[in-house]
Amino acid sequence: MTSKSAAAAARATVYGYPRQGQGRELKKAIEGYWKGRVTADALRETAARLRRANWRQLAEAGIHEVPTGDFSYYDHVLDTTVMVGAIPARHRAAVQSNALDGYFAMARGTQEVAPLEMTKWFDTNYHYLVPELGPDTVFTTDAAKQVAELTEALTLGLAARPVLLGPVTYLLLAKPAPGVAAGFEPLTLLDRLLPVYAEVLAELRAAGAEWVQLDEPALVQDRTPAELNAAARAYRELGTRADRPRLLVASYFDRLGEALPVLAKAPVEGLALDFTRSAAANLEGLAAVGGLPGKRLVAGVVNGRNIWIDDLENSLSTLGTLLGLAERVDVAASCSLLHVPLDATAERDIDPQILRWLAFARQKVQEVVILAKGLSHGAGSIAADLAANRADLASRAASAITRDPAVRARAAAVTDADTRRSQPYHRRTAAQRAHLGLPLLPTTTIGSFPQTGELRTARADLRAGRIGAARYQERIEAEIREVIAFQEKTGLDVLVHGEPERNDMVQYFAEQLTGYLATRHGWVQSYGTRYVRPPILAGDISRPEPMTVRWTRYAQSLTARPVKGMLTGPVTMLAWSFVRDDQPLGETARQVALALRDEVNDLESAGTSVIQVDEPALRETLPLRTADHAAYLAWATESFRLATGGTRPDTQIHTHMCYAEFGDVLAAIGDLDADVISLEAARSHMRVADELATAGYPREVGPGVYDIHSPRVPGAGEIADLLRKGLAAIPAGRLWVNPDCGLKTRGWAEVRAALENLVAAARTVRREL
Ligand code: GLN
Ligand code: ZN
Repeated sequence: MTSKSAAAAARATVYGYPRQGQGRELKKAIEGYWKGRVTADALRETAARLRRANWRQLAEAGIHEVPTGDFSYYDHVLDTTVMVGAIPARHRAAVQSNALDGYFAMARGTQEVAPLEMTKWFDTNYHYLVPELGPDTVFTTDAAKQVAELTEALTLGLAARPVLLGPVTYLLLAKPAPGVAAGFEPLTLLDRLLPVYAEVLAELRAAGAEWVQLDEPALVQDRTPAELNAAARAYRELGTRADRPRLLVASYFDRLGEALPVLAKAPVEGLALDFTRSAAANLEGLAAVGGLPGKRLVAGVVNGRNIWIDDLENSLSTLGTLLGLAERVDVAASCSLLHVPLDATAERDIDPQILRWLAFARQKVQEVVILAKGLSHGAGSIAADLAANRADLASRAASAITRDPAVRARAAAVTDADTRRSQPYHRRTAAQRAHLGLPLLPTTTIGSFPQTGELRTARADLRAGRIGAARYQERIEAEIREVIAFQEKTGLDVLVHGEPERNDMVQYFAEQLTGYLATRHGWVQSYGTRYVRPPILAGDISRPEPMTVRWTRYAQSLTARPVKGMLTGPVTMLAWSFVRDDQPLGETARQVALALRDEVNDLESAGTSVIQVDEPALRETLPLRTADHAAYLAWATESFRLATGGTRPDTQIHTHMCYAEFGDVLAAIGDLDADVISLEAARSHMRVADELATAGYPREVGPGVYDIHSPRVPGAGEIADLLRKGLAAIPAGRLWVNPDCGLKTRGWAEVRAALENLVAAARTVRREL
């Protein structure tokens, strides 16, 4: 089939690649540098070696244009801040005296200066450093990193395309610098920023760049007409410069929507669109603007956000539809491959049959290459690949792991009644009051106590077979005894067992649920040198046996006070795992919820009267477009209610979230139908208490009074003041006293003192009631 391919053959490309290397070399080198064990030159050499290895790997696999500039010692948004000279005043001296140390100071802070704030990169689990801008910000050009990395790749004889964060997204991700009025809008700096981008583009052109990619993922979110105008202005301005390379404006993570006509009209040579999450909307959008005549369309058809093999036939058909819509169509992953682990073939412990269903970065690159070949030369040219892919997809679809009839039957039989407690809140609260007999302003904690080195060693010893299950159980029980004794002595009202047996609040459950898969090397960057290994929701989820009951029961056997059971909610389980792509998220959440429901019910039967289901990820999983929020919140809150709906009225259900900013999900919190919610509030001086009161939230609330992110021990007087503030918004009968979040990252000395002060403060304020 030669079809329309008198046009150029489709090229295969990607926007970015995992940074750290298969042996985590980059992480080790950077952390070694911080500790003074690795010199700056050695660090630079390791970084350069990794970049070369990645590019060679990509080129050998058949990627025509390798990305450059996506590498980072910490974060690509911070790199952009350096590129445009927007160094915060407090870091300028450090950056001037030593660029590398100054860079790390901006990322991590020093004894003297605070770092930049860190926040989530769109709806991924990657965190970027938030640019701080103000009306006085002066941008200056520093293209050195971009030019050097392009030159490195060109020197290897490769076709390379620098990837930059686009100016509009950069400004939209920024916040007002400290001391600047909160109403300041960084986007008003666009006209000042564009000349800097123009200079960077000119320098890249001079260094040999034919194409440069400008990433504008912020344009897949809801944007105001003013913001869309800014985007139009930005690309008109950059596009009409003479001394520039060809420009590819890239979008990913969702549909471009109303930004698509804006970019289609802009004087740029190419657009990259995501055809995974929102293929239909982007296809319609392209048709509506009459395609991209004369332009290059880069089609992100291979999902860069999950770890599943692509449906190659399906992608090829999408690509075929696109052929007539642009001058040329190239093939890519939907976004940078930064969000997936490096290489599935490193997973020696995964059943080889299942391994065939998995595609990490390296495998996704192969898929992109195959698809580009198929698009250029017809499906016949990739017949063997298509057949193998079809067989793998069929084996996945038919597998007993993917489809467990018992799980499916149970999920299908869920009724609305299953997601409702048997009594309305006002009856339950009376029953709980009678049952629990707690004082006003009851004190509690969020679950975990300090994870000591001994605990981590015990877990490592168990895994390595150095100690047996019985010995491990003894160690955990000894820890629980200590945690309970401390809480009793300190006078807390609702106790916890301390979560000493948990490595991580998601992984702990994933390891015990059937249908979940763990990886050994599946590291993904969370921020800087912190990498996580998200478990994989691979198949239908069930709970072969209770997961937490024995520890909670043991803790309860040691005390007459109520011990709170502690679980991770369905939304958070999904948010911090790789999810299935073969069924709606709501379906997976429902399966997880049913497994948790069994655990909740078993805890209750074992005598647990207070059960907390943590949902810290409820807000972070919100879809990027508000039009999609309602559908998400419907399944998210339903899965929470399904997990907790089977309990007696006098069992008190708590939930916990780690934010102070709730705007978008405040209403949804009510739909969880929990009895008590604890939230982060210490840093924002109980603002959330006011917000909940204003929203008319009629339930019990524990706004945190101890900022656990800081080693600082709050005084009893300070905590009492926060409580009095809380009481101004929330009546005494509904206010709880607790820290902001779990205590696992803190030391025992701080925790002891802080909780003693917390109990003292509660007692003081109770006497004032
Ligand atoms: N129960 C968990 C803990 O205390 C909650 C952690 C979280 O909200 N991130 O550690
Ligand atoms: Zn928390």
